[in-house]
Amino acid sequence: MKVNKPPKGGARAKLRAHFLANVGRVMNSTELRTVVDNQSEWARRVRELRTEEGYQILTHNDRSDLKPGQYLLETPKPQPAFERAISKESRAYVLDRNGFTCQMCGAVAGEPHPYDTTRKTRLHIGHITDKSMGGTDDPSNLRAICSVCNEGASNATLTRPDLQKLLIQIRRATSQDQLEVLRWLIKKFPKQAVEKIKP
Ligand SMILES: [Zn+2]
Repeated sequence: MKVNKPPKGGARAKLRAHFLANVGRVMNSTELRTVVDNQSEWARRVRELRTEEGYQILTHNDRSDLKPGQYLLETPKPQPAFERAISKESRAYVLDRNGFTCQMCGAVAGEPHPYDTTRKTRLHIGHITDKSMGGTDDPSNLRAICSVCNEGASNATLTRPDLQKLLIQIRRATSQDQLEVLRWLIKKFPKQAVEKIKP
């Protein structure tokens, strides 16, 4: 009588389960090969998890702090199929146009995320008008959006600063940083800025 049943599914299912059980932990090829009992096709199965299922399994090609042979699943949520359908050219164009900056929270690709500094900002391509509302995949309807905003977690993780504390912080900041705040405010509120500056 069998006591230990092997886990259901093939090599890809085993790898998927292993990645999902180890989100955020860097793993090497030796570990992953062991997961599938040394099957030689393990690397191809990992690629399928990326390309067919949309799991964001990062390698040294995606992140400079990863060494060749290291793998990292940053988030358990696969990239939606529509995003995978957007061409490489459109992605590159939109990221460049948006200055590699999240258009919702302003986080910059590769820098620590302002709401969660343990995470490096990773940008996705999002639709401005959702496809369910008739939006297209045309670059004019696309924008760069970080994984935190993409997961809709920004509202949950961002506690709005108290106005009093915020003003104190700004008053204490260097002139250079204050000017940076001013520039950002003018960009965000161009109409109001012009009205106030008018003599
Ligand atoms: Zn964001």
